[in-house]
Amino acid sequence: MSVTRTGALPLGAEAAYDVVVVGAGVVGSAIARTLARHPLRIALVEASNDVGDGTSKANTAILHTGFDAVPGTLEARLVREGHRLLSAYAQETGIPAEPLGALLVAWDEGQRATLPRLAEKAERNGHRTTRLLTAAELRAREPHLGPGGLAALEVPGEAVICPWTTTLAYATQAVRSGVDLHLNCSVEKVRPGDPYHRLVTRRGVLRTRHLVNACGLHADAFDALVGREDFVVTPRRGQLLVFDKFARDLVRHILLPVPGPLGKGVLITPTVYGNVLLGPTAEDLDDKTATGTSAEGLAGLREQGGRILPALLDEEVTAVYAGLRAATGQEDYRIAAHPGLRYVTVGGIRSTGLTASLAIAEHVRGLLADCGLDPGPEHPLARLRMPNLGEASSRPYRDARLIAGNPEFGSIVCHCERVTKGEIRAALTSTIPPGGLDGLRRRTRARGGRCQGHHCGAEVRALFEEYGPEKNGRGAR
Ligand SMILES: Cc1cc2nc3c(=O)[nH]c(=O)nc-3n(C[C@H](O)[C@H](O)[C@H](O)COP(=O)(O)OP(=O)(O)OC[C@H]3O[C@@H](n4cnc5c(N)ncnc54)[C@H](O)[C@@H]3O)c2cc1C
Repeated sequence: MSVTRTGALPLGAEAAYDVVVVGAGVVGSAIARTLARHPLRIALVEASNDVGDGTSKANTAILHTGFDAVPGTLEARLVREGHRLLSAYAQETGIPAEPLGALLVAWDEGQRATLPRLAEKAERNGHRTTRLLTAAELRAREPHLGPGGLAALEVPGEAVICPWTTTLAYATQAVRSGVDLHLNCSVEKVRPGDPYHRLVTRRGVLRTRHLVNACGLHADAFDALVGREDFVVTPRRGQLLVFDKFARDLVRHILLPVPGPLGKGVLITPTVYGNVLLGPTAEDLDDKTATGTSAEGLAGLREQGGRILPALLDEEVTAVYAGLRAATGQEDYRIAAHPGLRYVTVGGIRSTGLTASLAIAEHVRGLLADCGLDPGPEHPLARLRMPNLGEASSRPYRDARLIAGNPEFGSIVCHCERVTKGEIRAALTSTIPPGGLDGLRRRTRARGGRCQGHHCGAEVRALFEEYGPEKNGRGAR
C-alpha cells in the first residue's frame, strides 16, 4: 500500500495496474474499496491534494431512503441499496450517523393533496413505512415550526451522516487493503491500448488494463479523453447556511419540502456535529469551479427558512458553503460499461451519490466483469474504526480512559468544537493524512466552529507544521 502526493510516479511494473479508478470522491473511493477485496493491483488517482475534496465535501449529508426517486431507475435501485449498505457500514466503522427520520411538510392545499401521491411513490420504491400526519401531530413533533403547516408525510429511515468520514473511511480501508492512492495527480491524457491503456498524469505515466471514470463534475471531460461524448455535465449549485449549535434544539427531524415544479426545494436538517443546515439552492451554471455563495442566494434561503422555522433566523450563522451537483439533463445516473475500451463511466451522480456510493461500487464491480476483468477470489478487507466526529456518541475530550492512556486527548485545542491535541495529532499521522488545514478540519472539526479558527487557528497550524505529511514523511513521497 502507498499514498503518494508529490514527485514522479513509480516506474515500470510498479506503475502497471489491473484497474485505475480516476477521482477520489465518495464514489471513486467506494469503488476502490470494493475492488480491494480482490487480488488486483489497483490505483485510486486524484487531481486534488486530498480525498473527498470535490462535491463530496459540500452536500446536505443526508442518507436518503430513496422514497422519492423515480421508480424503476438505476438511481432508485442504487439509492435504496446504498442506504442499507452504508447504514450497516457506518455502524461497523464508527461513521457518525443519526436516523432522525424526515417530515415532508405541506404548507398549502396543493401540497397537502400531493402527500398521498408521494406515499404511493414511496411504496413503489419499496418503502411501506411512510405515514400521513395531521397538523396537530405535526406540531407535536416539531413545536417550533412556523404557522400554516397543514399536514406532513413522515418518512422513517431518512438519516444524517458525516460525509467527510464516509469518503475517508472508504479510501483508508482501500489503502490499508493494498490500493495505491496517488494525490495531486490529475489525468490529462489517455492513450487507449491493449493490454494496457496509458494515462498521462501531471506526475508521470500510469498503465492500466481497466479504467474507471469517477470524475464527478468532470466525468464528461474525462469521457472525451477516451473518445466518448455521451452526455454533458451542467453544474447545479446548492448554497447552504450552517447555523450555530444553539439552534439544534429547534428541530428534531429532517424537514423536507414537498417537491414542486421548481425541484426538490429547501430543507432544514440537523447535522451529526450538532448544527442546523438550511438549503440548498438549485442554480444551473456553466462554471464548474463556481463554489462561492451569493448574497442573493443566501437571502432567499433565509426567507424560505424563516417561514419553516421562524426562530432559526435569530440564531448565529457559523458558516456558508456551496456544492455543485453533476446534472446531465436526465433523471438518472449515467453509469455505463464500454467493454471494447475496458472502461466504465460513472457519471451523472446527481444529488444522491453519498447515499448510493457503496451500491454504485458493487454495480461497477459487475460492469468491470462485463468488460473482461476477472477479479479472482474475494478476501476480507482490513478492519477499520474511524475517529468519532459526531455528537451522538462519546467524543475523546469526554473519554476518561482514553485520556488516562494519552493526556493529549484531554488537551483541547479547538474550544468551539472541543477538538483535542490527540485527535489532531492522530489525523496528521493517519493512513491518509490531510493535505492542508481544510482537510484537517474535515478529519477532526478543528477550526470548524463558531469562531472559524479565530482563536485556535495559530495553534492548529503549528501542529500541522510539526506533525503534518511534510514532516512525518507519510504520503509525501
Ligand atoms: C448541494 C448538494 C447537496 C447534496 N446532498 C446530498 C445528500 O444529502 N445526500 C446524498 O447522498 N448526496 C448528496 N449530494 C450528492 C453527492 O454529494 C454527490 O453525488 C457525490 O458527492 C458525488 O461524488 P463523486 O465522487 O461522484 O464526485 P466528487 O466528489 O466531485 O469527486 C470527483 C473527483 O474526481 C476528481 N477528478 C476529476 N477529474 C479528474 C482527473 N482528470 N484526474 C484526476 N482526478 C479527477 C476531482 O478532483 C474530484 O475529487 C449533494 C450534492 C450537492 C452539491
